[in-house]
Amino acid sequence: MRPMPVWYHETYTEGISRSARFPRDRYRMLRERLNDLHGTGLICIESPEPAVRDTLLIAHEQDYVDRFLSGSLGSKEVRRIGLEPWTDAFLPRTMMIIGGAVEALAHVTRFGGIAANMAGGTHHSHRSFGSGYCVFNDLAICALLARDEYGYERIAVLDLDVHQGDGTATILEDEEGIITISVHGEKNFPFRKAKSDYDFPLPNGTGDEGYLRAVEESLAIIEDFSPEIVLFQAGVDALEFDALGNLNVSEDGMRIRNDMVFSSLDRRTPCVLFMGTKLDTPQRY
Ligand SMILES: [Zn+2]
Repeated sequence: MRPMPVWYHETYTEGISRSARFPRDRYRMLRERLNDLHGTGLICIESPEPAVRDTLLIAHEQDYVDRFLSGSLGSKEVRRIGLEPWTDAFLPRTMMIIGGAVEALAHVTRFGGIAANMAGGTHHSHRSFGSGYCVFNDLAICALLARDEYGYERIAVLDLDVHQGDGTATILEDEEGIITISVHGEKNFPFRKAKSDYDFPLPNGTGDEGYLRAVEESLAIIEDFSPEIVLFQAGVDALEFDALGNLNVSEDGMRIRNDMVFSSLDRRTPCVLFMGTKLDTPQRY
């Protein structure tokens, strides 16, 4: 069996300022954890090339893209994204994360199976603005790329992060052949929810049983839809020890969730796994 490729670059951590209110070391620490798997033949670590402007334009307005690239976003727009203070490394980091996602997509298109990007899942980014630590929406970019460049006719975006995939839902709202599914905390960020094709808003304190029931229902929708590719936002902030997740899912419950997703995928259905963003400090504006 071919090892599962995982895209990673040290800029995923280093591209965020040390003084930003964000647990930036999570990427580096996860990479170190994966050392245990090194040499087992289960995974291989790949390094991304930065995405190009045209790739961003697949899902975003030109004005927003160009103002980000030229460093001329307004201070309010920057605050809404967060991760300040932005250093010179922040722009290349942003492009590298999108690069990792599109390379993972290209890989599963060619070889099938599962590929992952060890950052991203930037589901709060909208067409013309970023939000909640998300500059550009890697899920929306990959969904549109999958359809328009690679010819997939049925694409499912499964978002199991505790925060609703509002940007993804909005960008992909009227797109033919693409469905969006979000299982999330109804009282959590974003406080104004968008409309996915299928939403499963869960009350605070839901726990394993209710959470896994919603996951099961979302997988039944996917099975009915019979997608040719699944884009999986695999955020784990529904875990009980996540300070602001509020869904109280146990580690066992989370393991079961992941097993459910992967065993439900037909072995021939390619899947791109997005690590998911963690919102430690919800912003209100
Ligand atoms: Zn989240």
